[in-house]
Amino acid sequence: MKFKLIAQDGKARAGIIETDHGLIETPIYMPVGTQGTVKATEQRELIELGAQIILGNTYHLYLRPGMEVIEQAGGLHHFMNWQKPILTDSGGFQVFSLTALRDIADNGVTFRSHLDGSQHVFTPESVIQIERQLGADIMMVFDECTPYPCEFEYAKKSNEMTLRWAERCIIAKEKQPALYGHSQALFGIVQGSVYPEIREMSARALTKLELEGYAIGGLAVGEPLEEMYRMTEFTEQFLPTDKPRYLMGVGTPENMLESIERGVDMFDCVIPTRNGRNGMLWTRDGTINIRNAQYKTDFTPVDTECDCYTCRTFTRSYLRHLFVTKEILALQLASIHNLSLFLWIVRESRNAILEKRFAEWKTTMLARFQVSSTVSEQPSISFI
Ligand SMILES: [Zn+2]
Repeated sequence: MKFKLIAQDGKARAGIIETDHGLIETPIYMPVGTQGTVKATEQRELIELGAQIILGNTYHLYLRPGMEVIEQAGGLHHFMNWQKPILTDSGGFQVFSLTALRDIADNGVTFRSHLDGSQHVFTPESVIQIERQLGADIMMVFDECTPYPCEFEYAKKSNEMTLRWAERCIIAKEKQPALYGHSQALFGIVQGSVYPEIREMSARALTKLELEGYAIGGLAVGEPLEEMYRMTEFTEQFLPTDKPRYLMGVGTPENMLESIERGVDMFDCVIPTRNGRNGMLWTRDGTINIRNAQYKTDFTPVDTECDCYTCRTFTRSYLRHLFVTKEILALQLASIHNLSLFLWIVRESRNAILEKRFAEWKTTMLARFQVSSTVSEQPSISFI
């Protein structure tokens, strides 16, 4: 993997990541394909939307279908027939947030599956092995994502363990060669909760390990937005300029614009698809809840400026009808539109950076997003 910084406008950066599965133009938003599928969205649609890289979840894929199936398929790219870049997380976030934990020790984590209660162990070595079997272009080191709030002492000890795990991941990567003939990069993850002192320690120690990219983890876990921006801004100064920076689990279009301004290159978040499946649609003029009665006879597209399949083809009235009648096409059309909007944001941000007008573009968009923002008060829909 290679990273080239093309342009900078303030701290905002435009770059290119080169992988064996193609180029990624940054800043980039990565749709989340938790179980080897971006929910309710086909691979051909992702390509049409301009998705350049998607994310797969190690924890979920390890449990189902399991690594035997993935390896026999020739890796995740072949299994799901997605020939562009893939990034896999380390499973750390899910292990710590979804499972009944049995034991966290320096060696690794023993946990029970959220599916059937079966017992498993993740260690830095086993996670690298799983990520080799998945064959992602970008692998993440195994880390502990601390919850919010988190005591200083716990965050400090946890980060020290995460750093030891990062070193073990690097050794494991050297010992376990790639399985499918393409190269796989390894990114480190800066932790430290909302404590600048630990963040600095984490970033300085990780950059010495000369990983191929650096993520800012442990944010977007319930802390106030200002803390998230403050920690991102603080951490960024310790990261090398010639490597990509990835803010994990972030965020809304507003969050992405604020973070791009602070020097972040990569994002992932489930909200465009997850909230989309509940009828929340992002437009350039704020979010709407398509189930609201006001759209019953609104025969305009979701977003008149959007060129996605949903907006080119259907009206708000029709989408509302699909949601109200719980037709599964609603999920697909909403996901397509929201992903399109998120990918448009990063693409236009990149253009603005290249033309040195990012601050102006950001101000304009933030003002527009706030025009008619509404929050869904209705309960979520269960389709199946
Ligand atoms: Zn659209």
